[in-house]
Amino acid sequence: MKVLKFGGTSVGSPERMKKLLDIVNPAERQIVVLSAVSGTTNSLVEIGQAYLTGDKLKAVQLLAVLKTRYEKFIAELFAKPEFLASGKEVIDYHFGLLANLANDHFTTIEDKIVLAQGELLSTTLYHVYLQEIGVPSVLLPALDFMKIDEDGEPVVDYMTEHIQPLLAQYPDNKLFITQGYICRNSFGEIDNLRRGGSDYTASLIGAAIRSEEVQIWTDIDGMHNNDPRIVKGTKPIAQLSFDEAAELAYFGAKILHPQSVFPTQKYKIPVRLLNTMEPGAPGTLITNSSEKGEIKSIAAKDGITAIKIHSSRMLLAYGFLRRVFEVFERYKTPIDMITTSEVAVSVTIDDTTHLGDITNELNIFGSVEVDVNQSIVCVVGDFGAETHGYAARVLESVKHIPVRMISYGGSSYNISILVKTADKIEALRSLHSRLFE
Ligand code: ADP
Ligand code: ASP
Ligand code: MG
Repeated sequence: MKVLKFGGTSVGSPERMKKLLDIVNPAERQIVVLSAVSGTTNSLVEIGQAYLTGDKLKAVQLLAVLKTRYEKFIAELFAKPEFLASGKEVIDYHFGLLANLANDHFTTIEDKIVLAQGELLSTTLYHVYLQEIGVPSVLLPALDFMKIDEDGEPVVDYMTEHIQPLLAQYPDNKLFITQGYICRNSFGEIDNLRRGGSDYTASLIGAAIRSEEVQIWTDIDGMHNNDPRIVKGTKPIAQLSFDEAAELAYFGAKILHPQSVFPTQKYKIPVRLLNTMEPGAPGTLITNSSEKGEIKSIAAKDGITAIKIHSSRMLLAYGFLRRVFEVFERYKTPIDMITTSEVAVSVTIDDTTHLGDITNELNIFGSVEVDVNQSIVCVVGDFGAETHGYAARVLESVKHIPVRMISYGGSSYNISILVKTADKIEALRSLHSRLFE
Protein backbone atom coordinates (compact mmCIF):
# COMPACT_ATOMS: atom_id res chain seq x y z
CA MET A 1 0.00 0.00 0.00
CA LYS A 2 1.43 3.39 -1.00
CA VAL A 3 1.17 6.64 0.92
CA LEU A 4 0.74 9.81 -1.15
CA LYS A 5 1.05 13.24 0.46
CA PHE A 6 -0.16 16.42 -1.21
CA GLY A 7 1.08 19.75 0.11
CA GLY A 8 -0.68 23.07 0.51
CA THR A 9 -0.34 24.29 -3.08
CA SER A 10 -1.41 20.89 -4.42
CA VAL A 11 -4.78 21.41 -2.71
CA GLY A 12 -4.53 25.21 -2.84
CA SER A 13 -7.51 25.84 -5.15
CA PRO A 14 -10.68 23.93 -6.09
CA GLU A 15 -9.15 23.36 -9.52
CA ARG A 16 -6.02 21.81 -8.02
CA MET A 17 -8.05 19.69 -5.64
CA LYS A 18 -10.07 18.30 -8.54
CA LYS A 19 -6.87 17.54 -10.44
CA LEU A 20 -5.61 15.22 -7.67
CA LEU A 21 -7.47 12.43 -9.42
CA ASP A 22 -5.07 12.78 -12.38
CA ILE A 23 -2.46 11.42 -9.94
CA VAL A 24 -4.43 9.39 -7.40
CA ASN A 25 -5.69 6.15 -8.88
CA PRO A 26 -8.91 5.35 -6.94
CA ALA A 27 -8.62 1.70 -7.98
CA GLU A 28 -5.38 1.20 -6.05
CA ARG A 29 -5.45 0.71 -2.26
CA GLN A 30 -3.59 3.72 -0.84
CA ILE A 31 -3.54 6.38 1.86
CA VAL A 32 -3.68 10.00 0.75
CA VAL A 33 -2.39 12.55 3.26
CA LEU A 34 -3.50 16.13 2.70
CA SER A 35 -2.08 19.40 4.04
CA ALA A 36 -4.23 22.42 4.71
CA VAL A 37 -5.13 24.59 1.71
CA SER A 38 -2.10 26.87 1.15
CA GLY A 39 -2.07 29.97 3.34
CA THR A 40 -4.55 28.48 5.83
CA THR A 41 -2.05 27.45 8.51
CA ASN A 42 -0.37 30.88 8.31
CA SER A 43 -3.79 32.50 8.91
CA LEU A 44 -4.52 30.09 11.77
CA VAL A 45 -1.17 30.97 13.35
CA GLU A 46 -2.22 34.65 13.27
CA ILE A 47 -5.67 33.86 14.65
CA GLY A 48 -4.15 31.84 17.50
CA GLN A 49 -1.70 34.69 18.20
CA ALA A 50 -4.59 37.19 18.32
CA TYR A 51 -6.45 34.99 20.80
CA LEU A 52 -3.34 34.41 22.89
CA THR A 53 -2.75 38.15 23.19
CA GLY A 54 -6.41 38.77 24.02
CA ASP A 55 -7.06 40.66 20.77
CA LYS A 56 -10.46 39.12 20.06
CA LEU A 57 -11.44 41.79 17.55
CA LYS A 58 -8.43 40.96 15.39
CA ALA A 59 -9.25 37.24 15.67
CA VAL A 60 -12.82 37.90 14.51
CA GLN A 61 -11.58 39.94 11.52
CA LEU A 62 -9.02 37.31 10.49
CA LEU A 63 -11.62 34.56 10.83
CA ALA A 64 -14.06 36.47 8.62
CA VAL A 65 -11.44 36.84 5.86
CA LEU A 66 -10.50 33.17 6.01
CA LYS A 67 -14.13 32.02 6.06
CA THR A 68 -14.93 34.11 2.99
CA ARG A 69 -12.03 32.42 1.22
CA TYR A 70 -13.50 29.00 2.05
CA GLU A 71 -16.99 30.05 0.97
CA LYS A 72 -15.58 30.95 -2.45
CA PHE A 73 -13.59 27.71 -2.45
CA ILE A 74 -16.64 25.48 -1.97
CA ALA A 75 -18.69 27.48 -4.45
CA GLU A 76 -16.18 26.41 -7.10
CA LEU A 77 -15.49 22.93 -5.75
CA PHE A 78 -19.05 21.62 -5.72
CA ALA A 79 -21.43 21.50 -8.66
CA LYS A 80 -24.55 19.98 -7.02
CA PRO A 81 -26.59 21.99 -4.48
CA GLU A 82 -26.80 19.16 -1.91
CA PHE A 83 -23.00 18.76 -1.87
CA LEU A 84 -22.50 22.53 -1.73
CA ALA A 85 -24.81 22.45 1.31
CA SER A 86 -22.66 19.70 2.88
CA GLY A 87 -19.55 21.76 2.15
CA LYS A 88 -21.20 24.75 3.81
CA GLU A 89 -21.98 22.63 6.88
CA VAL A 90 -18.32 21.59 7.06
CA ILE A 91 -17.00 25.14 7.02
CA ASP A 92 -19.73 26.40 9.38
CA TYR A 93 -18.77 23.68 11.85
CA HIS A 94 -15.01 24.46 11.80
CA PHE A 95 -15.40 28.25 11.76
CA GLY A 96 -18.05 28.00 14.49
CA LEU A 97 -15.59 26.07 16.62
CA LEU A 98 -12.87 28.66 15.91
CA ALA A 99 -15.20 31.55 16.81
CA ASN A 100 -16.38 29.84 20.02
CA LEU A 101 -12.82 29.62 21.29
CA ALA A 102 -13.17 33.35 22.02
CA ASN A 103 -15.32 32.35 25.01
CA ASP A 104 -12.69 29.99 26.46
CA HIS A 105 -9.63 30.64 28.55
CA PHE A 106 -7.18 30.56 25.64
CA THR A 107 -3.87 28.79 26.21
CA THR A 108 -1.37 26.98 23.99
CA ILE A 109 -3.69 23.96 24.23
CA GLU A 110 -6.50 25.87 22.48
CA ASP A 111 -3.94 27.32 20.06
CA LYS A 112 -3.15 23.82 18.82
CA ILE A 113 -6.86 23.17 18.32
CA VAL A 114 -6.91 26.29 16.12
CA LEU A 115 -3.90 25.10 14.10
CA ALA A 116 -5.52 21.69 13.51
CA GLN A 117 -8.55 23.10 11.68
CA GLY A 118 -6.72 23.59 8.35
CA GLU A 119 -6.06 19.91 7.69
CA LEU A 120 -9.47 18.93 9.08
CA LEU A 121 -11.10 21.33 6.61
CA SER A 122 -9.12 20.28 3.52
CA THR A 123 -9.59 16.55 4.06
CA THR A 124 -13.30 16.76 4.89
CA LEU A 125 -14.01 18.99 1.90
CA TYR A 126 -12.07 16.64 -0.38
CA HIS A 127 -13.95 13.66 1.01
CA VAL A 128 -17.30 15.37 0.28
CA TYR A 129 -16.05 16.25 -3.21
CA LEU A 130 -15.22 12.59 -3.89
CA GLN A 131 -18.73 11.68 -2.76
CA GLU A 132 -20.16 14.22 -5.19
CA ILE A 133 -18.32 12.70 -8.14
CA GLY A 134 -19.08 9.15 -6.98
CA VAL A 135 -15.56 8.02 -6.02
CA PRO A 136 -15.72 5.86 -2.88
CA SER A 137 -13.28 6.93 -0.16
CA VAL A 138 -12.80 6.62 3.60
CA LEU A 139 -11.85 9.58 5.78
CA LEU A 140 -9.42 8.34 8.45
CA PRO A 141 -9.21 10.63 11.49
CA ALA A 142 -5.47 11.23 12.05
CA LEU A 143 -6.23 12.14 15.68
CA ASP A 144 -7.23 8.49 16.23
CA PHE A 145 -3.77 7.11 15.39
CA MET A 146 -1.09 9.84 15.07
CA LYS A 147 0.65 10.12 18.44
CA ILE A 148 3.65 11.87 20.00
CA ASP A 149 5.14 11.14 23.43
CA GLU A 150 6.07 13.53 26.26
CA ASP A 151 9.26 14.53 24.39
CA GLY A 152 7.30 15.31 21.23
CA GLU A 153 8.66 12.17 19.55
CA PRO A 154 6.28 10.13 17.36
CA VAL A 155 5.25 6.70 18.66
CA VAL A 156 5.24 4.52 15.54
CA ASP A 157 4.15 1.32 17.34
CA TYR A 158 1.05 3.11 18.65
CA MET A 159 0.33 4.30 15.12
CA THR A 160 0.61 0.78 13.72
CA GLU A 161 -1.66 -0.62 16.44
CA HIS A 162 -4.31 2.02 15.83
CA ILE A 163 -4.28 2.47 12.06
CA GLN A 164 -4.29 -1.23 11.14
CA PRO A 165 -7.70 -1.99 12.71
CA LEU A 166 -9.12 1.14 11.05
CA LEU A 167 -7.92 -0.03 7.64
CA ALA A 168 -9.17 -3.55 8.35
CA GLN A 169 -12.70 -2.18 8.87
CA TYR A 170 -12.77 -1.32 5.15
CA PRO A 171 -11.41 -4.37 3.30
CA ASP A 172 -13.18 -3.39 0.09
CA ASN A 173 -12.23 0.27 0.07
CA LYS A 174 -9.24 1.50 -1.88
CA LEU A 175 -8.89 5.18 -1.22
CA PHE A 176 -8.19 6.41 2.32
CA ILE A 177 -7.85 10.14 3.05
CA THR A 178 -6.27 11.53 6.20
CA GLN A 179 -4.91 14.72 7.71
CA GLY A 180 -1.24 15.61 7.66
CA TYR A 181 0.44 17.58 10.46
CA ILE A 182 -2.00 16.88 13.32
CA CYS A 183 -1.66 14.33 16.11
CA ARG A 184 -2.35 13.78 19.79
CA ASN A 185 0.25 14.27 22.50
CA SER A 186 0.90 12.19 25.63
CA PHE A 187 -1.98 13.96 27.44
CA GLY A 188 -4.36 13.05 24.62
CA GLU A 189 -4.60 16.70 23.60
CA ILE A 190 -4.61 17.84 19.98
CA ASP A 191 -1.07 18.68 18.91
CA ASN A 192 0.95 18.88 15.70
CA LEU A 193 4.23 17.79 14.12
CA ARG A 194 5.45 21.41 13.63
CA ARG A 195 5.25 23.51 10.51
CA GLY A 196 5.56 21.51 7.31
CA GLY A 197 4.64 18.41 9.34
CA SER A 198 2.45 16.75 6.72
CA ASP A 199 5.59 15.28 5.13
CA TYR A 200 6.39 13.77 8.52
CA THR A 201 2.85 12.35 8.78
CA ALA A 202 3.25 10.63 5.40
CA SER A 203 6.58 9.13 6.39
CA LEU A 204 5.27 8.02 9.80
CA ILE A 205 2.20 6.37 8.26
CA GLY A 206 4.51 4.79 5.70
CA ALA A 207 6.55 3.33 8.56
CA ALA A 208 3.48 2.38 10.61
CA ILE A 209 1.95 0.31 7.80
CA ARG A 210 5.33 -0.74 6.31
CA SER A 211 4.25 0.89 3.09
CA GLU A 212 5.88 -0.05 -0.22
CA GLU A 213 6.52 3.60 -1.11
CA VAL A 214 5.88 7.13 0.16
CA GLN A 215 5.26 9.86 -2.40
CA ILE A 216 5.54 13.54 -1.45
CA TRP A 217 3.69 15.56 -4.08
CA THR A 218 4.53 19.26 -4.05
CA ASP A 219 4.96 22.29 -6.30
CA ILE A 220 8.46 21.53 -7.58
CA ASP A 221 10.01 18.61 -9.47
CA GLY A 222 11.99 17.13 -6.59
CA MET A 223 14.89 18.15 -4.37
CA HIS A 224 16.97 20.72 -6.23
CA ASN A 225 20.72 21.12 -5.95
CA ASN A 226 20.30 24.50 -4.23
CA ASP A 227 17.53 26.66 -2.80
CA PRO A 228 15.44 27.69 -5.85
CA ARG A 229 14.07 30.66 -3.91
CA ILE A 230 17.58 32.15 -3.72
CA VAL A 231 19.68 30.75 -6.54
CA LYS A 232 18.83 30.81 -10.26
CA GLY A 233 19.29 27.76 -12.46
CA THR A 234 18.93 25.07 -9.78
CA LYS A 235 18.23 21.54 -11.02
CA PRO A 236 16.39 18.53 -9.60
CA ILE A 237 18.47 15.67 -8.19
CA ALA A 238 17.44 12.25 -9.47
CA GLN A 239 18.59 10.18 -6.49
CA LEU A 240 19.53 10.79 -2.85
CA SER A 241 20.34 8.52 0.06
CA PHE A 242 18.23 8.83 3.22
CA ASP A 243 21.22 10.38 5.03
CA GLU A 244 21.78 12.96 2.31
CA ALA A 245 18.08 13.86 2.19
CA ALA A 246 17.90 14.10 5.99
CA GLU A 247 20.91 16.40 6.05
CA LEU A 248 19.45 18.69 3.36
CA ALA A 249 16.01 18.75 4.98
CA TYR A 250 17.49 19.52 8.38
CA PHE A 251 19.73 22.24 6.98
CA GLY A 252 17.03 24.20 5.24
CA ALA A 253 15.73 22.46 2.09
CA LYS A 254 12.09 23.42 2.74
CA ILE A 255 10.73 20.78 0.37
CA LEU A 256 11.00 18.23 3.21
CA HIS A 257 10.17 18.52 6.91
CA PRO A 258 13.49 18.17 8.80
CA GLN A 259 12.60 14.89 10.52
CA SER A 260 10.50 13.37 7.80
CA VAL A 261 13.13 11.05 6.38
CA PHE A 262 13.88 9.02 9.52
CA PRO A 263 10.75 6.81 9.81
CA THR A 264 11.02 5.72 6.17
CA GLN A 265 14.77 5.25 6.51
CA LYS A 266 14.27 2.91 9.46
CA TYR A 267 12.05 0.60 7.39
CA LYS A 268 13.91 1.18 4.10
CA ILE A 269 10.77 2.55 2.43
CA PRO A 270 11.61 4.46 -0.76
CA VAL A 271 10.44 8.07 -0.84
CA ARG A 272 9.69 9.96 -4.05
CA LEU A 273 9.49 13.75 -4.26
CA LEU A 274 7.16 14.60 -7.14
CA ASN A 275 5.59 17.64 -8.78
CA THR A 276 1.78 17.91 -8.87
CA MET A 277 2.01 20.49 -11.67
CA GLU A 278 4.19 18.16 -13.74
CA PRO A 279 3.23 14.59 -12.77
CA GLY A 280 5.37 13.02 -15.51
CA ALA A 281 8.65 14.52 -14.26
CA PRO A 282 10.92 11.94 -12.61
CA GLY A 283 11.44 13.96 -9.40
CA THR A 284 13.79 12.68 -6.70
CA LEU A 285 14.02 9.12 -5.42
CA ILE A 286 15.32 8.70 -1.86
CA THR A 287 16.59 5.23 -0.98
CA ASN A 288 19.34 3.53 0.97
CA SER A 289 21.96 3.85 -1.72
CA SER A 290 24.20 6.82 -2.39
CA GLU A 291 25.98 7.70 -5.59
CA LYS A 292 29.75 7.83 -5.40
CA GLY A 293 31.93 10.74 -6.41
CA GLU A 294 29.28 13.44 -6.66
CA ILE A 295 28.53 16.71 -4.94
CA LYS A 296 24.75 16.64 -4.76
CA SER A 297 23.23 19.74 -3.24
CA ILE A 298 23.58 22.83 -1.09
CA ALA A 299 21.19 24.07 1.61
CA ALA A 300 21.26 26.71 4.32
CA LYS A 301 19.67 27.16 7.70
CA ASP A 302 19.26 30.59 9.33
CA GLY A 303 18.67 31.61 12.91
CA ILE A 304 21.83 29.98 14.19
CA THR A 305 23.72 31.12 17.30
CA ALA A 306 27.38 30.19 17.78
CA ILE A 307 28.82 29.80 21.28
CA LYS A 308 32.55 29.61 21.90
CA ILE A 309 33.87 28.39 25.25
CA HIS A 310 37.53 29.20 25.75
CA SER A 311 39.20 27.47 28.65
CA SER A 312 42.80 26.57 29.45
CA ARG A 313 41.34 23.85 31.67
CA MET A 314 40.46 22.00 28.50
CA LEU A 315 44.15 21.51 27.74
CA LEU A 316 45.05 17.84 28.20
CA ALA A 317 41.93 17.34 30.31
CA TYR A 318 39.36 14.62 29.88
CA GLY A 319 35.69 14.97 30.74
CA PHE A 320 35.66 18.64 29.72
CA LEU A 321 33.46 18.20 26.65
CA ARG A 322 31.10 15.99 28.59
CA ARG A 323 30.59 18.75 31.17
CA VAL A 324 29.99 21.29 28.39
CA PHE A 325 27.47 19.03 26.65
CA GLU A 326 25.68 18.33 29.92
CA VAL A 327 24.83 22.02 30.18
CA PHE A 328 23.03 21.83 26.82
CA GLU A 329 21.38 18.58 27.83
CA ARG A 330 20.02 20.12 31.05
CA TYR A 331 18.31 22.81 29.00
CA LYS A 332 17.10 20.35 26.32
CA THR A 333 18.93 22.38 23.68
CA PRO A 334 20.22 20.44 20.67
CA ILE A 335 23.64 21.26 19.25
CA ASP A 336 23.99 21.32 15.45
CA MET A 337 27.65 21.93 14.66
CA ILE A 338 30.74 21.54 16.79
CA THR A 339 34.41 22.37 16.28
CA THR A 340 37.22 22.10 18.78
CA SER A 341 40.76 23.29 19.34
CA GLU A 342 42.99 22.36 22.25
CA VAL A 343 41.76 25.29 24.37
CA ALA A 344 38.37 26.15 22.95
CA VAL A 345 35.22 24.58 21.66
CA SER A 346 32.56 26.19 19.45
CA VAL A 347 29.05 24.87 19.09
CA THR A 348 25.94 26.11 17.33
CA ILE A 349 22.32 26.01 18.47
CA ASP A 350 19.10 27.22 16.89
CA ASP A 351 16.86 27.14 19.95
CA THR A 352 17.89 30.13 22.07
CA THR A 353 15.10 29.80 24.67
CA HIS A 354 17.65 29.03 27.41
CA LEU A 355 20.66 30.89 25.99
CA GLY A 356 21.01 33.08 29.11
CA ASP A 357 21.03 30.11 31.51
CA ILE A 358 23.35 28.14 29.25
CA THR A 359 25.94 30.92 28.98
CA ASN A 360 25.74 31.54 32.76
CA GLU A 361 26.60 27.91 33.43
CA LEU A 362 29.30 27.79 30.74
CA ASN A 363 30.97 30.86 32.29
CA ILE A 364 32.11 28.55 35.10
CA PHE A 365 34.38 26.73 32.61
CA GLY A 366 35.98 29.78 30.99
CA SER A 367 35.21 32.76 28.81
CA VAL A 368 32.12 32.52 26.63
CA GLU A 369 31.51 34.35 23.36
CA VAL A 370 28.13 34.38 21.61
CA ASP A 371 27.55 35.25 17.93
CA VAL A 372 23.96 35.60 16.77
CA ASN A 373 22.49 35.87 13.23
CA GLN A 374 24.58 33.08 11.80
CA SER A 375 23.68 30.58 9.06
CA ILE A 376 24.86 27.05 8.47
CA VAL A 377 25.57 26.38 4.80
CA CYS A 378 25.67 22.67 4.17
CA VAL A 379 27.07 20.94 1.09
CA VAL A 380 25.93 17.35 0.67
CA GLY A 381 27.50 14.66 -1.48
CA ASP A 382 30.21 12.03 -1.45
CA PHE A 383 32.94 13.40 0.81
CA GLY A 384 34.25 9.94 1.63
CA ALA A 385 37.89 9.33 2.42
CA GLU A 386 38.59 8.08 -1.10
CA THR A 387 37.44 11.33 -2.72
CA HIS A 388 39.79 14.28 -2.61
CA GLY A 389 39.72 17.90 -3.63
CA TYR A 390 35.99 18.40 -2.87
CA ALA A 391 36.53 20.10 0.48
CA ALA A 392 39.09 22.38 -1.15
CA ARG A 393 36.57 23.28 -3.87
CA VAL A 394 33.97 24.14 -1.25
CA LEU A 395 36.37 26.37 0.69
CA GLU A 396 37.72 27.92 -2.49
CA SER A 397 34.12 28.92 -3.36
CA VAL A 398 33.73 30.91 -0.15
CA LYS A 399 37.24 32.32 0.12
CA HIS A 400 35.90 35.91 -0.13
CA ILE A 401 33.45 35.37 2.76
CA PRO A 402 34.39 35.33 6.47
CA VAL A 403 33.80 31.79 7.76
CA ARG A 404 33.18 31.32 11.49
CA MET A 405 33.25 27.49 11.69
CA ILE A 406 33.93 24.55 9.36
CA SER A 407 32.73 21.02 10.04
CA TYR A 408 34.16 18.25 7.90
CA GLY A 409 34.62 14.54 8.50
CA GLY A 410 31.73 14.09 10.93
CA SER A 411 30.05 12.10 8.20
CA SER A 412 31.24 11.12 4.76
CA TYR A 413 28.40 12.91 3.04
CA ASN A 414 28.56 16.51 4.17
CA ILE A 415 30.62 19.57 4.86
CA SER A 416 29.11 22.48 6.77
CA ILE A 417 30.32 26.03 7.16
CA LEU A 418 29.02 28.72 9.45
CA VAL A 419 28.75 32.22 8.02
CA LYS A 420 26.98 35.43 9.00
CA THR A 421 23.40 35.35 7.72
CA ALA A 422 24.18 38.57 5.83
CA ASP A 423 26.71 36.56 3.77
CA LYS A 424 24.51 33.50 3.20
CA ILE A 425 23.07 34.42 -0.19
CA GLU A 426 26.51 35.18 -1.58
CA ALA A 427 27.80 31.89 -0.14
CA LEU A 428 24.97 29.89 -1.77
CA ARG A 429 25.40 31.58 -5.14
CA SER A 430 29.16 31.34 -5.16
CA LEU A 431 29.11 27.66 -4.17
CA HIS A 432 26.50 26.96 -6.82
CA SER A 433 28.43 28.56 -9.65
CA ARG A 434 31.71 26.91 -8.67
CA LEU A 435 30.38 23.46 -7.85
CA PHE A 436 27.65 23.01 -10.44
CA GLU A 437 28.18 25.37 -13.37
P1 ADP B 1 4.29 21.80 0.30
O1 ADP B 1 3.29 22.87 0.63
O2 ADP B 1 3.91 20.97 -0.88
O3 ADP B 1 4.69 21.01 1.50
P2 ADP B 1 6.68 23.40 0.58
O4 ADP B 1 6.49 24.85 0.28
O5 ADP B 1 6.73 23.00 1.99
O6 ADP B 1 5.57 22.58 -0.23
O7 ADP B 1 8.02 22.86 -0.14
C1 ADP B 1 8.25 23.10 -1.51
C2 ADP B 1 9.11 24.33 -1.69
O8 ADP B 1 10.38 24.13 -1.09
C3 ADP B 1 9.44 24.67 -3.11
O9 ADP B 1 8.43 25.44 -3.71
C4 ADP B 1 10.77 25.43 -3.00
O10 ADP B 1 10.59 26.81 -3.08
C5 ADP B 1 11.24 25.11 -1.59
N1 ADP B 1 12.62 24.61 -1.56
C6 ADP B 1 13.62 25.07 -0.77
N2 ADP B 1 14.76 24.41 -0.98
C7 ADP B 1 14.51 23.49 -1.95
C8 ADP B 1 15.28 22.51 -2.62
N3 ADP B 1 16.57 22.32 -2.33
N4 ADP B 1 14.69 21.77 -3.57
C9 ADP B 1 13.40 21.93 -3.88
N5 ADP B 1 12.59 22.84 -3.28
C10 ADP B 1 13.13 23.62 -2.32
N1 ASP C 1 -0.33 22.91 7.12
C1 ASP C 1 0.89 22.73 7.87
C2 ASP C 1 1.83 23.89 7.62
O1 ASP C 1 1.50 24.77 6.82
C3 ASP C 1 1.55 21.42 7.60
C4 ASP C 1 2.06 21.23 6.17
O2 ASP C 1 1.62 21.93 5.27
O3 ASP C 1 2.89 20.34 5.98
O4 ASP C 1 2.84 23.97 8.23
MG1 MG D 1 5.93 21.46 3.13
